[in-house]
Amino acid sequence: MIHNNNKTSSVWNMRKLELRNKHLNDFNQAEALRKVAFSYLKFAQASISGHRVASSVLAFKKDGTRSHGRLEGRDRNTNMFRVFGGCNLEISISTVLHAEAITLYKALSEGYTKVQAVGVTSDHEDQIKPLCGACRQLYMYINPLTTIFVFGKDKKVKLKVKLIDTINYPYMSKGKIT
Ligand SMILES: [Zn+2]
Repeated sequence: MIHNNNKTSSVWNMRKLELRNKHLNDFNQAEALRKVAFSYLKFAQASISGHRVASSVLAFKKDGTRSHGRLEGRDRNTNMFRVFGGCNLEISISTVLHAEAITLYKALSEGYTKVQAVGVTSDHEDQIKPLCGACRQLYMYINPLTTIFVFGKDKKVKLKVKLIDTINYPYMSKGKIT
């Protein structure tokens, strides 16, 4: 089936309205994560690998504090959530930062520490994977039940899986993200 951009954008506009109203009855995680992740592909710095990767993170704020963001709202329990986006930054041979890590750091550093889901995509078919091992472990520290969405170049969901189900022997830190 061919992805229908018009249909998606009109549905998305409805979602944005719902988000603006701050009263969310049915929040489509995959749709929001897809929209944000793909919008960040163009910011990727991928001169070393040649693979542009982008990701998105849906996270809730611990308290109900207002925050400005490109995508925010409240769920039915009036908890504040936001969808963050990021891309890979290959700054030098010694500094190659994965999109999924960048996006997670963005969420955490804005106070959105209750990570629910992560989306990832790439402009390179070989690079469309459910996060590398290091990034998965990073998310394990935050929330082992994070849902991973992997989007193909055609924007379809290639894989939806719980993080904990991808790691047989997870390492758990004594550190605690609150
Ligand atoms: Zn990674």
